[in-house]
Amino acid sequence: MIKGTVIIQSERCKGCQLCIFACPQGVLRLSNAYNSRGYRTVRLDETDRRCTGCAVCAVICPDSVFTVYRETSHSPAMGADAKGGCNGQSAVERQ
Ligand code: SF4
Ligand code: SF4
Repeated sequence: MIKGTVIIQSERCKGCQLCIFACPQGVLRLSNAYNSRGYRTVRLDETDRRCTGCAVCAVICPDSVFTVYRETSHSPAMGADAKGGCNGQSAVERQ
């Protein structure tokens, strides 16, 4: 299965949970953290690394919170050095 990950810009999130219900892998959760606007924000549950980088969350989010990364076949390793992405990545971002 293709692996992916998402970067979440929490300050943009308003906790509407659309992405949580839309994610086919069920890996998005409402966190206990609040952003500066007083909204509980979404986080990625990276247990089992089930995010596929499908970008459904980025498409459905009305506030452009997500940047999506997807592994490419010739570079399967996720970069341990990367807080904001992975090696061999392709980014899908909706502005
Ligand atoms: S759809 Fe966007 S704004 Fe709504 S909870 Fe998800 S990340 Fe936050
Ligand atoms: S990229 Fe797809 S699998 Fe990953 S969090 Fe977004 S909707 Fe879920």
